[in-house]
Amino acid sequence: MRALVLSDIHANAAALDSVLEQAGPVDSVWCLGDVVGYGPDPNRVISRLQGLSNLVCLQGNHDAAAIGELGLEGFNLEARTSIEWLRDELSQESYEFLRQLQPRAEISGVTLAHASPRQPVLEYLLDVYSAGENFDHFDGPFCFVGHTHIPVLFQQREYTVSLHMPKVNTTITLDPRCIANPGSVGQPRDRDPRAAFAIYDDQQHTWDYQRVEYDIDAVQKRMRSAGLPERHITRLASGW
Ligand code: ZN
Repeated sequence: MRALVLSDIHANAAALDSVLEQAGPVDSVWCLGDVVGYGPDPNRVISRLQGLSNLVCLQGNHDAAAIGELGLEGFNLEARTSIEWLRDELSQESYEFLRQLQPRAEISGVTLAHASPRQPVLEYLLDVYSAGENFDHFDGPFCFVGHTHIPVLFQQREYTVSLHMPKVNTTITLDPRCIANPGSVGQPRDRDPRAAFAIYDDQQHTWDYQRVEYDIDAVQKRMRSAGLPERHITRLASGW
């Protein structure tokens, strides 16, 4: 079974379309949350996801904030502006879609969490210390997370945890135990503006990490005409 693993689409429909095209046929899609927030096309992204077969979709912190399940006090001013715009923009159907999502799931022996297995909504796994503490919070060989927008693998061997940045367009075999992040589709933050994703094969345990270009300029124009914060618009072009 081949699963397309993607995260942090952030209402960027153009980036999602490029990812789906480059990924080609897959058996299922595992979306690790933050479907909305920042980008100009929340309803389009949700209807694209609803059209995918065998979708497992988690709820991220932006998704929870969009429907009022998470307060705005943890977000900076620009993110709040963006979420307030989003709350007005969401259709009833999109609202219902976001409302039934959970921030953590188990599928095919893999734990999926938006942020971390310990704190599935909000914790950032950016270093070996926070990642190391999280290995006690899932049982299987692998856990896939999003939230940081940085493609990374944390590998546990006996009592040590190491961090690896995978090379673009390479397939590696995951060793137990490992926490893997496919990066962000709609708002990468590793200085590579291309949309990020991975394809996981649950028989071979391979992780095929890829990047794909999309029309950033067109998305920026849509964000500007929606009146979204300028910093969120400019950062798309530099991927940070
Ligand atoms: Zn995010």
